[in-house]
Amino acid sequence: MMGIAPLTTTVVGSYPSTPALSSLFRYCREGADPYAESLRIAVDAQLSAGVEIVSDGQTRNDMVRLFATKLSGIRMRAKPVIIGDIAHKSPITAEDQKVARSMLGGRAKLKGIITGPYTLAMSCADQHYGSAEKAAMAFAEALNSEARILSGLVDVLQVDEPFFSVEFPEYSESLVSTVFSGVHVPKALHVCGDVGRIFGRLVELPVDILDHEFAAHPELLDVVSDIDFSQMLGYGCVRSDLNVAESVAEISERIKKGVACVGHKRLVLDPDCGLRHLSPDVARAKLENMVKARNMVIQDES
Ligand SMILES: [Zn+2]
Repeated sequence: MMGIAPLTTTVVGSYPSTPALSSLFRYCREGADPYAESLRIAVDAQLSAGVEIVSDGQTRNDMVRLFATKLSGIRMRAKPVIIGDIAHKSPITAEDQKVARSMLGGRAKLKGIITGPYTLAMSCADQHYGSAEKAAMAFAEALNSEARILSGLVDVLQVDEPFFSVEFPEYSESLVSTVFSGVHVPKALHVCGDVGRIFGRLVELPVDILDHEFAAHPELLDVVSDIDFSQMLGYGCVRSDLNVAESVAEISERIKKGVACVGHKRLVLDPDCGLRHLSPDVARAKLENMVKARNMVIQDES
């Protein structure tokens, strides 16, 4: 499906961000990019683990600030405040995608990631639109400009909407289709948390991959097996909330359960969520063990 091989390994997106002191000094002295090094470390770690669809590591900021600081209409406070019309000013993550791409040497594909309009709207204080729906739709329009740019730079484009598992809006389909409008690469939607209650609604959304946390919420497999859906399943098989790497055996058991439920052809494997809050060694080990576990499952099958 969509040129994505069965049991392909990928990431949700974020990776520990640790600008080295030396790069911060260089930044102060020469204005060099303090995150250039953490981007390289993130991509390198994914490549050497053998991950097949990698990200830029989103090391510049957390998922909300990464986008909120770059859109117009927002004043940055502890909680960002919408003070005017939200608009896309200039490419937000495109340069980092180009750097990541230049490191791949054809060894992996590249995933672009956009924080979803609903999650951004729910993470900001609104002094302008007066309705969550209007704010979210404005974010969706602005993010579509970013999506169209990324569509020419990446192999897969993912929208992250963690807030969907907190509250699923009636207008979710227009948000998702607005962000992805004009995008011609496979489209993924990542929703973390417990999506058991809303999985039946998520399958109606116009995306190619639905990505969820099956390691932290193994009971989701029961829900998934009761519902007909056409998308591939992004199968979180590594915990992203525990700062300890699971063994290869433990991860391969999880993968086998997923395969038994939906078949290997429809599974894409990744950690449950972003790895930003883990220590770099643990994040690296989780990716390495995930790829080894996948290889073990394939070997056992053949
Ligand atoms: Zn997540």
